[in-house]
Amino acid sequence: MQFKDIVGQNDLKKSLVETVRNGRISHAQLFLGKGVNGKFALAVAYAQYINCPDKTEFDSCGICSSCVKYHAMSHPDLFFSFPVNKSSKSSGASDSGEGGVSRSASSKDLVSTMFYKDWLNYLNATSYYPELQSWYKKISIENKQGIINVEEARRIVRDVSFKPVEAPYKVLIIWQPEKMNMSSANVLLKFFEEPPANTIIIMVADEKDQLLKTIQSRFQIISVPKISDFDLYDYLKVKYEGTPKTQIKNAVALSNGDLQKAEHILGEGEQMKEHFLLFQSWMRMCYKKGSLEEIKTFVEKVSRIGRENQKHFLNYSLRLVRQSLLLNYGHPSLNKLTHYESEWLTKFSPFIHINNGVQLTQKFEQAIFEVGRNASASVLFMKLSLDLSVLLKIPQ
Ligand SMILES: [Zn+2]
Repeated sequence: MQFKDIVGQNDLKKSLVETVRNGRISHAQLFLGKGVNGKFALAVAYAQYINCPDKTEFDSCGICSSCVKYHAMSHPDLFFSFPVNKSSKSSGASDSGEGGVSRSASSKDLVSTMFYKDWLNYLNATSYYPELQSWYKKISIENKQGIINVEEARRIVRDVSFKPVEAPYKVLIIWQPEKMNMSSANVLLKFFEEPPANTIIIMVADEKDQLLKTIQSRFQIISVPKISDFDLYDYLKVKYEGTPKTQIKNAVALSNGDLQKAEHILGEGEQMKEHFLLFQSWMRMCYKKGSLEEIKTFVEKVSRIGRENQKHFLNYSLRLVRQSLLLNYGHPSLNKLTHYESEWLTKFSPFIHINNGVQLTQKFEQAIFEVGRNASASVLFMKLSLDLSVLLKIPQ
């Protein structure tokens, strides 16, 4: 990870570089900031910069042996710790876990190195912008909390106590130190008080107050601000080339400098527009009692989008049917509709009224239920299309 690969944060990059160039590298630093703002990526880029023998005044070189090993996350002097827990899906750790956690391993024996392969895949997939819930999903513990337990704390002390193998500095990066419990915090506190020589410890956290005061006081705080709107927009407009600029601006405004939130909004936005267009053409076809050929073409199209997408599409359709009823009966909630939805629904909603509204709602609810039970999509959408053709013709 090089500084140039990180979205925005130019002032902070500059001041981190200066600490290295002035020989004022603190041996215990806490990168602190809310949300997915790049604080973890900055910690890794900083560590890589410190150890790169060919660094420039802006960045690590990216091609020396140290940088190559950092890039592959295989440097013998680079260590990570992060919260884990037992998977709720299988009886061990995550299925693809490199450690092959034994089925009898209990939560208290788990250490993060058992999940290292998942961790690397996850970091690559998120471009080093990790976020707790999606990490939990990756290791299938969504409904549990990850922890940094006392066994993990002992593991850190053991692994990091040796001299650096080849780099000037060993670096330990602890992601989400808030997830330490009291026993692990106590073990690590002793370690932080007397760290081995040539070792840099970087903790990457959202909330300082969840850490013991005695731990906080050992660390120099590096505040990582949210990504500026300008930098976020600049990054997203390249990554989402082709997406309307207003949509990107909207995502930036709603995300509060959080990269993951912004991308989530953009991703959802695209799918929503697709579903809207599909629903629109479907309703037109049903209302004018399209030919069987036309209906077949629609059914084939929707059969190909996959079950999860079909479920989303049906839920989306149901939402528009309900919003139409609300529009007709004096409870418009236009703020819950996008501009294109409200524009079209004002024309479409008169066709959904007191004489067919309940039946239409039930038909969609039934279809959602059946899709969930693996009914044949082509049969289901064919039948639903024919039902809708009849129901939409019922006069108000
Ligand atoms: Zn280098």
